[in-house]
Amino acid sequence: MVSGLNDVESPSDYDDYITFLKRRVRQLELQVRTLEADKERLERELSRLRMEMSRMRQPPAFAGTVIEVLDDERAIVQNYNGPRFVVRIAPWIERDKIKPGSRVALDQRTMAVVELLPSDKDPSVLGFEVIDRPRVTYRDVGGLEKQLQELRESVELPLKHPDLFRKVGIDPPKGVLLYGPPGCGKTLMAKALANEVNATFIKVVGSELVRKFIGEGARLVHELFELAKEKAPSIIFIDEIDAVGAKRMDETTGGEREVNRTLMQLLAEMDGFDPCGDVKIIAATNRPDILDPALLRPGRFDRVIEVPLPNFKGRYEIIKVHTRNMNLRGVDLKVIAEMTDGASGADLKAIATEAGMFAIRARREYVTQEDFLKAVEKVLGAERRLAQQIAMHEVMYG
Ligand code: ATP
Repeated sequence: MVSGLNDVESPSDYDDYITFLKRRVRQLELQVRTLEADKERLERELSRLRMEMSRMRQPPAFAGTVIEVLDDERAIVQNYNGPRFVVRIAPWIERDKIKPGSRVALDQRTMAVVELLPSDKDPSVLGFEVIDRPRVTYRDVGGLEKQLQELRESVELPLKHPDLFRKVGIDPPKGVLLYGPPGCGKTLMAKALANEVNATFIKVVGSELVRKFIGEGARLVHELFELAKEKAPSIIFIDEIDAVGAKRMDETTGGEREVNRTLMQLLAEMDGFDPCGDVKIIAATNRPDILDPALLRPGRFDRVIEVPLPNFKGRYEIIKVHTRNMNLRGVDLKVIAEMTDGASGADLKAIATEAGMFAIRARREYVTQEDFLKAVEKVLGAERRLAQQIAMHEVMYG
């Protein structure tokens, strides 16, 4: 083996030596290329870290509001209620997005507008879900005829014919409370109603209202009603109202005080609006038993509607809704409705989707009874086994 010039003793050793050197050169070239790639990568990383560091070193910016846009480069801004400044607009700001009222970040030293902030009236920032007119219709609600009729009477009729109530001399209900187990169509009915009356649907979740900072909950409730008025006709849907409206207890913790403040604001807003106006409020809960009675007084949520788990007929109607556009072959939906005692509307929807998935997996374009049976087992099986385990546990340990 030739590994150096000293080992060369014959011409053949010399050839070996040359081969050895060539191999070594190739290895070194490869090493150079790898090291160059590493160097490039590290340089990129270094410049990224430098940028991050310089961003961190920047002093915090002021928040301000644009009062007037003077031209492409300058605007008048105000920092809270302080003095107004004529400032520069940084070149990277999109000009068509900056308007009087826009919330902006201002450089601390020059007061230049350096960033456009999301508007604090922006519903998505506030955590509201706003749908201009939901696409769900009454046809998409299975069963629940009685509940739907009651809801329509309480909300749709006064929205469509407020004069009727004025002539008769009674106030329509201000708010409707829907209660019942999850997944049984409370949100669905409220959306269908908004569609029917061509109203904006504004949904907010109670637990989100009280999870924010102190004082935010009450502000959000106020913003919610302001937004509803702006977008009227509109339906405010408060899901999980129990998170805001549970019975008031001793205010020992800041958290409880915050919940109470939010509830007080909600009651105040409800008391302040016209029952014949075009903003309606529907709330939903799974725990009506823990609600503060103040919420259920006349002039507040004075119509209470139970939305229970569907019975056989209800399940049959719901499964019909969810299989309306499915290509079924030899499927008896009544059998499925029979087998699914205790299932919610959401479960039945999941069963229809699962049955479709079984057909797709079998590369079929139609869905069979067998697919549905497997889907029922898949969706309800695990749930039922869990319920059985809990029941067993209760029997054994009390
Ligand atoms: P939660 O208490 O969890 O908010 P919910 O009662 O508001 O539950 P929905 O959101 O209305 O439940 O239902 C979830 C989904 O289940 C609906 O989008 C719909 O697809 C289906 N569903 C529930 N109930 C029905 C029903 N009665 N008819 C047709 N579909 C239903």
